[in-house]
Amino acid sequence: MNYSSKGIVLSIENFGEADRYVQFYTKDWGMISVLAKSARKSKRRYVGGLDLFCHNEISLRGDPKDRPYLNEISVLNSFPRLREDLDKVLVAGKLAQWIKRLADTSTPMPSIYSLLGQSLALIEKESKPEKLELLNCIFKLKLLSILGLKPRVDVCTKCENEDDIEGIFDLNSGGILCRACSPKADFSDSLALHPIQRNLLNIGDQIKFTQWEEINFTPDLLPSLARLMTQFASFHTQVRLPV
Ligand SMILES: [Zn+2]
Repeated sequence: MNYSSKGIVLSIENFGEADRYVQFYTKDWGMISVLAKSARKSKRRYVGGLDLFCHNEISLRGDPKDRPYLNEISVLNSFPRLREDLDKVLVAGKLAQWIKRLADTSTPMPSIYSLLGQSLALIEKESKPEKLELLNCIFKLKLLSILGLKPRVDVCTKCENEDDIEGIFDLNSGGILCRACSPKADFSDSLALHPIQRNLLNIGDQIKFTQWEEINFTPDLLPSLARLMTQFASFHTQVRLPV
């Protein structure tokens, strides 16, 4: 039985003398691990499609969920200009880690597959380092939103009050607190948010990548926001994640 789908390479591991296990995030089967026979001996057999982040059409022999063999592959996009830039490879690597650690399931989630593909395409095109950092943040927000883990920052997470918001983000309750609720919070788990950061947390998952050129953000406010999102996601999933 042959199966085929589109998929993006997330990791490669040597196996035995000649083979490799390749992890793909696929459109139709979520995360899968595939055995590529003789991949260490012959690059030509898999037409250069087994490098990290390559977007391929793959054809499998065997059940996709049960360690199938890679039968045939055709490269849709190998993102060559991403691969030759170390900063871009580092950003792409973080996105791959977030998906590997938060969405390692064979339940199909085509929206995660699309998010990853679109993000890699933008990383390849983007030339400004601060916009790569912004993309990193928006990617995480979109992924958390797809997984039902988006932080709540439109109202107070404790009393749902819309006014008197202090800008205190409380990891434990998963969002922002109003003035009345903040003193009761455990401040060891709390962080102050700038209004611009709060706004990005609120609408970032709805930003359309087709409008990427027009999107800008204060670069100074990005590193602390990226850290906050990582702390938040790690806190609620008990999974260690890169910033
Ligand atoms: Zn409140």
